[in-house]
This record gives sequence, C-alpha cells and structure tokens, in this order.
Amino acid sequence: MNRNAMLQNLQSNNGIWDILIIGGGATGLGIAVDAAARGFKTLLLEQHDFAKGTSSRSTKLIHGGVRYLQQGDISLVMEALKERNLMIQNAPHLVLNQAFVIPNYSWWDGPFYHLGIKIYDFMSGNLGIASSKRISTQEVINYIPTIDQKALKGGIVYFDGQFDDARMAISLAKTAAQFNGVLLNYMRVEKIIKNRNSISEGVIASDLETKEKYQIQSKVIINATGVFADSVIKMDDPDADEMIQHSQGTHIVLDSSFLPNKYAIMVPHTKDGRILFAIPWHNKVIVGTTETVIEKPLLEPHFQLHEVEFILKTAGKYLTKKPTKKDVLSVFSGLRPLVKPEGNKRSTKEISRHHKVIISTSGLITVIGGKWTTYRKMAEDTVDNAIQVGRLKASPCITGNLPIFGYDKNLNLKEDPLAMYGAEKQKLLNLEAENQSYGDVISEDLPLRVSQVIWAVHHEMARTIEDMLARRVRGLFLDVNESLRIAPKVAQVMAKELHKSPNWIKNQLKEFRTTARHYQLVYNKT
Ligand SMILES: Cc1cc2nc3c(=O)[nH]c(=O)nc-3n(C[C@H](O)[C@H](O)[C@H](O)COP(=O)(O)OP(=O)(O)OC[C@H]3O[C@@H](n4cnc5c(N)ncnc54)[C@H](O)[C@@H]3O)c2cc1C
Repeated sequence: MNRNAMLQNLQSNNGIWDILIIGGGATGLGIAVDAAARGFKTLLLEQHDFAKGTSSRSTKLIHGGVRYLQQGDISLVMEALKERNLMIQNAPHLVLNQAFVIPNYSWWDGPFYHLGIKIYDFMSGNLGIASSKRISTQEVINYIPTIDQKALKGGIVYFDGQFDDARMAISLAKTAAQFNGVLLNYMRVEKIIKNRNSISEGVIASDLETKEKYQIQSKVIINATGVFADSVIKMDDPDADEMIQHSQGTHIVLDSSFLPNKYAIMVPHTKDGRILFAIPWHNKVIVGTTETVIEKPLLEPHFQLHEVEFILKTAGKYLTKKPTKKDVLSVFSGLRPLVKPEGNKRSTKEISRHHKVIISTSGLITVIGGKWTTYRKMAEDTVDNAIQVGRLKASPCITGNLPIFGYDKNLNLKEDPLAMYGAEKQKLLNLEAENQSYGDVISEDLPLRVSQVIWAVHHEMARTIEDMLARRVRGLFLDVNESLRIAPKVAQVMAKELHKSPNWIKNQLKEFRTTARHYQLVYNKT
C-alpha cells in the first residue's frame, strides 16, 4: 500500500467507479473492504490520514457493551457480540482476549452484577472468549494488587475483546487494497457533483499534498465521515436537517504500575452514575469514563480539563496508588457520531449506539452512528443499499469469514510489540537483516525501531511524523513527551525514505509539536 501507486491508479482510471467512499475511519474502511471484496470498483478518499478522526481515539474495546445491557438495549448488545466474535475470528493478530475485574464494594453488588454478566456470556455464545466467574476478595487483590481494599467484597471476572484501533484501520485499508480497492489519504472531498436530474454522480476532491483537484465520477457516493457527516450532507443539500449529535469522550494514559497484572478494571456505576474503565494497553494503562455532549466537531479535539480531573479523582477512589496530573503520560479525546435523537435527549448515555443508513433524494448514502465493534455489519448494510441505489450487480457480502490482512493466529499480542504486523512481521525482520542499522532502537519505551518507520513509509502510507507516531505506532497516545523526544529521529528517517528536504523536517517538527499540545497535560515535564 503505497500513496504514489494509489494516486497513479486514480489518475489512470478510465470510466466510472462503482462505489466512492468519503472518509477513512472505521466506517469508510469497512465499507471499502466489503465493496472491494464483492468485486466492485471501489475508491476511498480521506481528507487527513486513515483513522485520524474518532477511529484512533476509542477505548480500544471490541465488545457487546456491558453498559448497553444495563440500558436494556438487547438487540445492540446481541449484534455487537456477534461482531466481536467475528473480529476475533478474522483478525487474531489484532484483537486479544482481555480479562476485566468488576470489584464489589457491597454484598448485593456481587450477585447483581454476576447475573448481568452471565446474561452477557449467554448472549455471546461460546465463540472465542472465556466465561465470567465470581471471585473472592483475595483473588481480586491478586489480579489487581493496586485495588482499594477498604470494604472490598469480592468481585467478578469477565472477558471482552481489546484491540489497537488505528492498526486495525491500516489492516482494513490493506485488506481493501488486496481486492484492488484504491484508497487515498490527504484527499479531501470538497463538492458533490450532480447530473441534470439532480442525482449525485461524482465529487471534486483536492489532493492536499499537491493542491491538485480531481473530478471523479462514481455510480454511488457514500458519506462515511463520522462526526463530519452533516458537512457532507450539506454539500448534497444545503437545506438538509442536521443528523449528528456529537459527544466527547476523554481518556488519560498512565504508567503500567497503576495496573501491573494486565487485568483491567470496570466500575459499572461510580458514585455519580458513570462507568469507569482502566485497561492495560501497549504496556501502559488507559483510563476513561462515559462521554459528554459537545456542540462543534473538530478533527483534533482538545481535552476538557474538568473531565481529566474527574477521571483522576474517580480512578483514585478505586486505586491505592492515586494518580495525579503529573502521572498522565498522555491524554486524548474522541468524538462520537451519535444519531441525533428525536425529542430532546441531552445525555449521551440515553442516545442509541445503533447505526443508521440514510439515502438522500440525490442518491447520496450516509451512514452514521454505530461503533468500531460493529463496523463490518455497518459496511454490509451500507453496501447492500449501494447495490440498490447504483443498480450494481447483486453480489453477496463475504466479510463474515474474510481474514483481515496479516491474519496470523500464532502471535502473542500481549508480549510481542511486532504482533500487530501479523503475517508481515517476518518481512519487517527481513528488512532488519538486510541492513543492520534498520534494527536500531529509536525508543525503548514505546517501543520503536528504525525498520518500523521505513515499513510505514513504504507499505502503510505514512506521510507525516504524526501519521507515524500517532497511528502507525501509538506513541503520541501512549507518551507524548517520549514522542516529542524521538520526533527528530523519526523525521530524519522519513525524510530520507520520502526524499524530502531539511526544510520538510523543520516544518514537520513544528506541526508535530503543535499537534502534541493536544495530548499534553503537563507541559515541559522533561
Ligand atoms: C471516546 C470514544 C470511545 C469509544 N470507544 C469505543 C470502543 O471501545 N469500542 C467500540 O466499538 N467503539 C468505540 N467508540 C466508537 C467508535 O470509535 C466510532 O463509532 C468509530 O470510530 C466511528 O468511525 P467513523 O469512521 O464513522 O468516524 P471517523 O473515525 O471520525 O472517520 C471519519 C473520517 O472522515 C474524514 N472526513 C471528514 N470529512 C471529509 C471530507 N470532506 N473528505 C474526506 N474525508 C473526510 C475524517 O477526516 C475522518 O477520518 C468510541 C467512540 C468514542 C468517541
């Protein structure tokens, strides 16, 4: 997967695309995989990098959603559990089995939550993930040595899927490319073109690297732009109603000493009625809670300080080692594209996570809502609709049993930092064997080696330092100061591979430092 080759494919294409997708997050990439795998001539255009939006900022869970069960949304949980199992089956190199402990602090919590979790087990069937069980106070302490033991009365262990969202996005892009899909990052759709009958028949897109404009024709256009869906709907019909309710969720990242045994904590009901997750991820710990409504979507949302303070305070109630602002290695926020409810439900807890496919009078298909976990089903529903709208040749969806690019079930995701490359890991090692300096370590802590940067440039369409350190590896999300420290070395390697000038390095470092501010809670720590 190489941007120049993709661009050539776009330029040399004669004729009309079958399906053109706007947006390269979980939703758009899933649609690209589905459409290309069904044999349709598929083009995806992303204005920034793949998964730059919400799809790199999730809680990293592939789950039915215990909290949606609490809300009684059985059909959503059933659908998501089925999809969770398919993701584990089709991408064992990207999704792992994560154990969660629910600590109980009152006698009735144990039976109450265990019943709920048993229903969750039952609904998920027996594919892939182990069963839940009640555990004693001592077992809770063994699994979570840092848990607050005062008034602790046992707990429950249950299991769900966990993944690296941005790495999954790259693997989906590669899967679509394997089926001849053409995918371009840094290609922004600016206008929807219509024919004489006001039916949408193409787009004007701008290559943000060269500023060149492209007029592209397609039988079907799909708007998969997440929280930006309303802006594309307005390109189609300036008078259309707004469809999206934006909600912002914030996560902080802490050192692994806060949760040393690789067990996650799930608190289903904090004192103010929220859910709290503390989850081991890439040798660090992610902590986050439920989201709050916001008005305006941004591609790089800034965290709200009061949310960070709330997470720190709430986590501190359950941990013996109380996290403070100085412990926050990184902080990131994401925006959820919820389907705007009718009436005036303001709390995001109340708004459904179900997805919705909307077809405008011009034939523009918009898909909103949903979750990472259900990306495949969302894609299936959308492409089924696209076949009708574009009068495409009927062809069944094959993604239910389609291995995701790099499929390899023999890798240890918890211990092996290169497991995320799946079957391509060996190619990366071969690169290091070719040239000894490619094995040089750039960061012990993240970890990162020179070969990974070279690989990302040539095979994963990394164009900037941010692409590399935020999404090809997850440094910016894991430890912002360490990422800033190694950025000059990463820039140097990328510049050599991309044939860029010293001026490019200078500009890139400036841009990266500006972006990094959004992830930095405590400035000038080092
Ligand atoms: C805080 C938080 C935690 C979450 N945790 C989980 C979880 O643990 N598990 C789970 O299953 N789900 C989770 N979700 C939900 C999940 O992350 C989202 O549903 C999913 O990522 C949305 O993907 P998307 O592709 O629709 O949107 P995005 O990822 O935002 O992608 C939309 C893309 O469209 C691009 N775009 C916009 N306009 C244009 C244009 N004009 N031209 C070209 N491109 C354009 C944007 O740049 C963007 O990359 C979470 C969500 C949030 C907010």
